[in-house]
Amino acid sequence: MSEEKKSLNFLEQIIEEDLANGLPKEKLRFRFPPEPNGYLHIGHAASICLNFGLGLKYNAPVNLRFDDTNPAKEEQEYVDSIQQDVQWLGFQWDKVLYSSNYFQQLYDWTIQLIEEGKAYVDNQSSEKMAIQKGTPTEPGVNSPNRDRSIEENLDLFLKMKNGDFDEGSHVLRAKIDMKHVNMHMRDPIMYRILKKHHHRTGNDWCIYPMYDWTHGESDYLEQVSHSICTLEFKSHRDLYDWYVDQVYDTNLLRPKQREFARRNLSYTVMSKRKLLQLVEEGVVNGWDDPRMPTISGLRRRGYTPASIRNFSETAGISKRDNVTDVALLEHCIKDDLNKTAPRVMAVLDPVKVIITNYPEGEEEFLDANYNDYAEGFGSRAVPFSREIYIEKEDFREEANKKFFRLKLGKEVRLKNAYIIKAESCIKDENGKVTEIHCTYDADSRSGSGSEASKRKVKGTLHWVSIKHAVSAKVNVYDRLFTDEAPDGHKDKDFKEFINPNSLNTIEAFVEPSLKDAKILDRFQFQRLGYFCVDKDSAENNLIFNRTVPLRDSWAKMEK
Ligand code: ATP
Ligand code: MG
Repeated sequence: MSEEKKSLNFLEQIIEEDLANGLPKEKLRFRFPPEPNGYLHIGHAASICLNFGLGLKYNAPVNLRFDDTNPAKEEQEYVDSIQQDVQWLGFQWDKVLYSSNYFQQLYDWTIQLIEEGKAYVDNQSSEKMAIQKGTPTEPGVNSPNRDRSIEENLDLFLKMKNGDFDEGSHVLRAKIDMKHVNMHMRDPIMYRILKKHHHRTGNDWCIYPMYDWTHGESDYLEQVSHSICTLEFKSHRDLYDWYVDQVYDTNLLRPKQREFARRNLSYTVMSKRKLLQLVEEGVVNGWDDPRMPTISGLRRRGYTPASIRNFSETAGISKRDNVTDVALLEHCIKDDLNKTAPRVMAVLDPVKVIITNYPEGEEEFLDANYNDYAEGFGSRAVPFSREIYIEKEDFREEANKKFFRLKLGKEVRLKNAYIIKAESCIKDENGKVTEIHCTYDADSRSGSGSEASKRKVKGTLHWVSIKHAVSAKVNVYDRLFTDEAPDGHKDKDFKEFINPNSLNTIEAFVEPSLKDAKILDRFQFQRLGYFCVDKDSAENNLIFNRTVPLRDSWAKMEK
């Protein structure tokens, strides 16, 4: 086997086999088929990257098809957000299509099926039908309505369509086999009555086709060669094939459904239904809350499209259910931002430092690179003055040898600036340090070329000049759930595992160059982590979201 062949995933292998067996390459066509009943999440990204990735690999068109057969839950807002998210991830579809485009065609085919004696109207209660369906180990029994005449079925189905019946009173079923080993083949429902406004077809229809009846036929109509879905549809494959075979014209391509395992992430819930609950119950502030695993939440959090594509690629696709460690996702964004984000200074938990031998009223602007380790980032001027903030935790009166930060009697370097030495500190009545008095070595300015500038001291601290600092709100996020598998407990609701401290908003001080930062700009706050400008940020109300801290638990695990 060649190197390239070995690295193909199992879906690519299937495609390669089909090509080897005579499928012309130009017939390859894929689709991504979201239901517009919520925002896309990181699980969808797996499917998007997979389908659009195949499109790119084989130079084949990929449709974005909205699977909009349930008017009760679908909305234009979701259609819009899905398009925005797919494009933001960096993919371009061939056509935007809707299953609802095919309602008339599906209806016409249904009439044919009824005329061929392959579908019937059932007006039993859903409970009755469920009992008749049998179980995986017991065959089902036929509905008493299974042998209605074709004329009667046509008449009843027309009445269903015309709105003569109430919701839930009648369904149309395919007449397949109530004893089939596959339960999905036991006379599945093709249509139900729903007297609801549809976001595209309005009130044109009050009968709506079921997923199975719609999906394969939509693939067939669009001539999708490989219809890739998640594992829970594997048992639907027989039905998918049965439906396609009812209308299949041998001159055309017969689409093929193949399945891969859903992407699950630790410490995360991924079903749209559950995410909707979090939004509706106010657990989070909307679908794009930076704690959400939605694409829009991750975007607002500071994730880049490249990091999400890289995550999807690295996590790979699998034939079996599995859980991906959320640390891998965090690693992917760190890896990207490490290469792309300018480094700046911000102090999140400040304590005042007075440099007693620095002249009062004086200020200077120090040249500071945006990235000391890579070319092309440029530099900015960072103001320095007699009074600065450093992080509280960067100072101790006394500490052991391993504490390389500021302690009384010892020196540290201020990043891009001078070496300072802590001389004394002032404390409040509770013993909390409120002010640190230091002296500085005036010859030690970074980059000045002097002997003192090259002097090695163990620690380097970030800081901001108090006079010049800009205040900013910083949202520090933690995981939304405290449990690795919040929806994996039989006896407990996933909401019992919500982390009460998933958001901590801090009043921080940032260097003045950040005043001009634009929404979604991303930075490394030195020694702290990666942060991005929130969409609600404004010139006089700067807001940053912490994307990830610097510590990389994934990289550590890999070592
Ligand atoms: P949810 O259960 O979150 O509502 P869904 O499967 O109902 O998801 P759809 O809008 O129907 O959501 O999904 C669109 C496509 O994305 C489908 O092909 C589906 O299989 C795929 N998909 C959805 N969730 C995941 C996931 N977690 N991992 C991989 N693919 C997914
Ligand atoms: Mg769905």
